[in-house]
Amino acid sequence: MSFHYTRARHVSEALRILAGDEGARLVAGGTDLSTLVRDGIVAPTHLVDVNGLGLDGIEWPRGGGVRIGALCRNAVDDPRLRRAYPVLVEALRSGASPQIRNRASFGGNLLQQTRCAYFRLPEFACNRRAPGAGCSAARGDGHLQAVFGASPHCVAVHPSDLAVALQALDAVVVTEGPRERRRIPVDRFFRLPGATPHITTELRRDEVVTAVELPDAPFARRSRYVKFRERASYAFALVSAAVAVEERGGTVRSARIALGGVAAKPWRSTAAEQALVGRRLDEAAIAAAGDAATAGARPGRGGGHKVELVRRVVRQALTELG
Ligand SMILES: Cc1cc2nc3c(=O)[nH]c(=O)nc-3n(C[C@H](O)[C@H](O)[C@H](O)COP(=O)(O)OP(=O)(O)OC[C@H]3O[C@@H](n4cnc5c(N)ncnc54)[C@H](O)[C@@H]3O)c2cc1C
Repeated sequence: MSFHYTRARHVSEALRILAGDEGARLVAGGTDLSTLVRDGIVAPTHLVDVNGLGLDGIEWPRGGGVRIGALCRNAVDDPRLRRAYPVLVEALRSGASPQIRNRASFGGNLLQQTRCAYFRLPEFACNRRAPGAGCSAARGDGHLQAVFGASPHCVAVHPSDLAVALQALDAVVVTEGPRERRRIPVDRFFRLPGATPHITTELRRDEVVTAVELPDAPFARRSRYVKFRERASYAFALVSAAVAVEERGGTVRSARIALGGVAAKPWRSTAAEQALVGRRLDEAAIAAAGDAATAGARPGRGGGHKVELVRRVVRQALTELG
């Protein structure tokens, strides 16, 4: 297989190539894209390397919050980031291996493809890979499948740990396109499958992710990431929880609870958040939040254990915070 390769020097250069070639794909760390190309899942005509765009900085604007460049590596270990947004650094550290984290970028992590085995093996039908082909996964082994927001067309989950932390932190994804710069809340950035599971995010084919922005939210400092997986390290989340809590006068004033490994997008559980607000962060409130987080869960065949795991990771994360 052959393709063109360009190391873009400006965002405008990357945008120009994307606009002129429908088969062009951006590459950052290449840790996901290279495996998809190798396995024949995608076949780019032009690889546009974004590592030279100068998008790897971390800025702390005067007005509060932080802006993290899309090319910042997943190995980032900034003490100020660790203090202000512990859940973010914990989520990053729980992912992959040190070698992969050194290559992997923020933008690439959010845009990585599902690890659903049926998507990754071309011999199986997959609506994400080939719209209209059918979903082998829906008839197959359900132990890794979505328990929230799935559709008959797709039951895959999003694999990113980072995305779950960003969801709990009310982050915004900043994109640059040929006509406009957009700021898309993480909650809207990722899409549920519906009838078009091949469209996984709001990012347009001709846009580049340039940064993520985190507000100076009152709950951010007291936040935690707990990940349950099949091996102790070097494994994707079976179920994970990012929790953040703001307390005043001994009661919870605001909370964020996001789940990973359970849906095609990081899954915010407002029911679990509401179970905490106005209460002391004690055992009863934590148990109620764990139960509330399972509301509406619809596990696939063999996936019932995920519902119990949701309850337990939420309880564990909140207990560790408390
Ligand atoms: C063995 C292994 C274990 C792993 N375990 C975990 C884990 O536990 N948790 C976890 O979260 N992840 C895990 N990962 C996934 C890993 O974190 C991702 O592969 C990585 O974050 C992708 O980043 P990248 O920069 O290498 O992206 P690339 O592979 O370069 O790109 C991925 C996708 O993003 C697009 N893209 C990249 N940058 C931009 C941009 N700036 N704007 C728009 N589009 C862009 C590319 O076009 C491509 O479609 C694992 C990966 C491996 C191989």
